[in-house]
Amino acid sequence: MQKIAMQTPLVEMDGDEMTRVLWRWIKEILIEPFVDLKTEYYDLGLENRNKTEDKVTCLAAEATKKYGVAVKCATITPNAQRVEEYGLKEMWKSPNGTIRRILDGTVFRSPIIVKGITPYVGGWKSPITIARHAYGDIYNAVEERCGKGEKAYLVICKDGKEIKRSLVHGFDNGAGIVQSVHNTEDSIKAFARSCFSFALEQKLPVWFGAKDTVSKIYDHRFKDIFNEIYSNEFKKDFETAAIYYMYTLIDDVVARVMRSEGGILWVCKNYDGDVMSDMVATAYGSLGLMSSVLVSPDNKYEYEAAHGTVTRHYYNHLKGEETSTNPIATIWAWTGALKKRGELDGNKTLSAFAERLEAASLKTVESGFMTGDLIPLFNAEGITPQKLSSKKFLEKIAENL
Ligand code: NAP
Ligand code: MG
Repeated sequence: MQKIAMQTPLVEMDGDEMTRVLWRWIKEILIEPFVDLKTEYYDLGLENRNKTEDKVTCLAAEATKKYGVAVKCATITPNAQRVEEYGLKEMWKSPNGTIRRILDGTVFRSPIIVKGITPYVGGWKSPITIARHAYGDIYNAVEERCGKGEKAYLVICKDGKEIKRSLVHGFDNGAGIVQSVHNTEDSIKAFARSCFSFALEQKLPVWFGAKDTVSKIYDHRFKDIFNEIYSNEFKKDFETAAIYYMYTLIDDVVARVMRSEGGILWVCKNYDGDVMSDMVATAYGSLGLMSSVLVSPDNKYEYEAAHGTVTRHYYNHLKGEETSTNPIATIWAWTGALKKRGELDGNKTLSAFAERLEAASLKTVESGFMTGDLIPLFNAEGITPQKLSSKKFLEKIAENL
């Protein structure tokens, strides 16, 4: 066949360990035979980040601003052990954190639904997408321990002068702990806009929950900002698209989510999103089936798998063993990016290819061929699941494609 042409390049961010191996195979086996792939390549592997003193990460994020669509492989966030393992000049920051700071985006995570892999929650039929606010609250908190007899105050100053002071607690009867958190209106507004735009694009109703009854200023401000932005900027388009926005208490959202059939965008404050995304991922099956996209307020997209570099499998791979690492979430990073590129360039053939690749991947699992992580989860009448190595699995998908 004649290969599918591309007009604009994708920003390609290569990564580390097992996912770097899968990255190359996915391109070789599933994409390059069919697409005349155009990418602007950035090697975010830890060695090259170290060599370029992490400039490559910033360049990749800048390129994403320029072209609008990126696809990213999982990368190592170095800790002390990695500094030693790779002989790093510095403990470089998390690439995802750096990219998020430059693009100022929101991360949306959705499970990939496969027939034969039933969510633990019986009623969930469609994906629940979680949008996590990735700024502030306890993640940038200031905390102290207080001793008996001490008093903690919240003090607000302007131009060096104290203008407000409220007593947090007097620890007269014994020691305790105290914490101060913050957020900014700009960040909450950008978050609200990202969520509403994403929901419109995906045609998903939006559920947002916070605890405004208890937190009458802090959480209430979130609620008000979301309401203002919804009414002023999105309400009409939501009505046209026949979707809706609902705010309710976080407890009520949790109860409603459990009873729901899925198919919603669940907007979470930072901590709620951290906790609930793990719950949702587990309830739907496997980390290998969780896709993720970072969307900036000005609609730049960066697609990736939600999981990490699968280090344990990589060490086995280095010993020459064939691993059965699940490539599906990484395939979805590619298909997500190709579909979006196709949409922006009016390249229907490219988008259609990405959709066929997703369908072929699902069909492969549904017909009983899968990686090891999915075997214990799979249950379809008359089909005995077969465990394949990553490479064999990719070849099987290519056959179906
Ligand atoms: P991980 O790479 O997600 O792996 C944790 C475990 O989950 C694996 O050992 C494996 O379990 C299972 N798993 C995850 N993805 C899988 C897949 N595709 N197929 C099969 N099994 C899968 O998390 P981690 O071990 O905590 O982190 C490893 C490295 O990744 C770290 O250096 C971390 O910094 C980095 N990381 C990067 C990102 C990112 O770039 N977005 C995100 C998270 C972590 P079994 O071993 O039981 O098979
Ligand atoms: Mg978490």
